Amino acid sequence: MSEPQIPQPPSHMSAEEFREYGYAVVDWVANYLAHADEFPVVSTVAPGDIAAMLSDTAPEHGEPFADLLSDLDDVVMPGITHWQSPNWFAYFPANTSGPSILAELASAGLGVQGMLWATSPAATEIESKVLDWLVDLMDLPQQWKSTGRGGGVIQMSASDSTHSMLVIARDRKKADSGIEDMVVYASNQAHSSVEKGTRVAGIGHVRLIDVDSNWAMDPDALRVAVEVDIAAGLHPIAVVSVVGTTGTTAVDPIGSIADIAAEFGLWHHVDAAYAGNAMVCSEFRHHIAGVDRVDSYTFNPHKWMMVNFDCNVLWVADRKPLIETLSILPAYLKNEATESGAVIDYRDWHVPLGRRFRALKLWWVIRSYGAEGLRMLIRHHVALASDLANRIGADDRFELFAPHPFGLVCFTHRDGNEATRSLAQALNNSGRVAVTPSELGGVTFIRLTIGQTRTEQAHVDALWDLMDDLS
Ligand SMILES: *Cc1c(COP(=O)(O)O)cnc(C)c1O
Repeated sequence: MSEPQIPQPPSHMSAEEFREYGYAVVDWVANYLAHADEFPVVSTVAPGDIAAMLSDTAPEHGEPFADLLSDLDDVVMPGITHWQSPNWFAYFPANTSGPSILAELASAGLGVQGMLWATSPAATEIESKVLDWLVDLMDLPQQWKSTGRGGGVIQMSASDSTHSMLVIARDRKKADSGIEDMVVYASNQAHSSVEKGTRVAGIGHVRLIDVDSNWAMDPDALRVAVEVDIAAGLHPIAVVSVVGTTGTTAVDPIGSIADIAAEFGLWHHVDAAYAGNAMVCSEFRHHIAGVDRVDSYTFNPHKWMMVNFDCNVLWVADRKPLIETLSILPAYLKNEATESGAVIDYRDWHVPLGRRFRALKLWWVIRSYGAEGLRMLIRHHVALASDLANRIGADDRFELFAPHPFGLVCFTHRDGNEATRSLAQALNNSGRVAVTPSELGGVTFIRLTIGQTRTEQAHVDALWDLMDDLS
């Protein structure tokens, strides 16, 4: 009788192979970014085209890495829409940069799981410190620092941050009310994540409040809605203000909303997903006047700070209710550092337990560009947007649709909705740019966002020439 045999492990990529293919992948990415402007911006594949190029079953035997790499060109690239093209003017940007991409690589190499301070102290301490830097860089309330009563945390998305804040708002009122009677408020221009977060949190009602002529929440309408709900026996628990709505970058009046939130005991969460990035420049901070009186605030460095997706920042003015609501400590996570109370365990600050080392890319981007570089990017893009808006405003064929406080310009074709829609279609079909058609109050308009890392004057000039040709 022979001894039982331990089955063999699979063959792994050797350090030498990793080096060779790693260099090849870095070359591939460098080449892509240098030529991202040469692809048709919007992928033209039909549904199922990419799937048809994949085999129906997983391979039984491992394939050479060179084949994987060549499929990046042959299979993946046709189905890519080029968010990193400087001719990207659609949605909001999801911009990135060399230091951010390399930090993602280093973070993947370390492969740490930063759920607790103890599971990689550097991941937690760099995150806290860098978010404290951002408080100063954006002149946000000092109380939000990790050294104050509040604190910041990196989450995956603004939707997650808003959802977790609605859960806190719900739990702090649960002694007074059943959750089916609770009400959350936001303007009718707020992001869909407010409605989704309300639903996921099981909260009974969401009220979408009327806006003024600039698409910003009307605080008088908010007050009336809260009073009507109270009179009806319901329990208002939270209001979400938006700084830079997704439709038109409208700015809700945070200060007036904070007054109402204080009067009625509402949790006041600010969603500054896109426009929050502009707060590195002092000239935009009047848009967040009153921010010192809000409970929580979120923005996405993965939109406009050259930190690649995903990287969302959430700050709370007081971390106690957050940790009380989300902390659960099973025996297998107990450790001395946690019990000492001297450390932050970020698993208590959001829904997931596990977390990637995302602070590395934020740290590397801020260190590489400096505060000065972050401000230059915002000012460059906003000036380009303003210049484009002036050209649009001065042209008989077009009309500006909304104010353009940041990098988004919204306009219509004067011949009406159909003309606007076909212009958007022609722009996207040209392969040379990507834009987003949208609609508000029965009016079709085109959204042009200037925010891709490498978008410069020449790209905006080319966009303008194309608009001119196609109109
Ligand atoms: C983009 C955006 C969001 C959603 O951001 P995610 O990080 O993708 O969840 C939420 N609110 C506003 C105002 C946005 O512009």
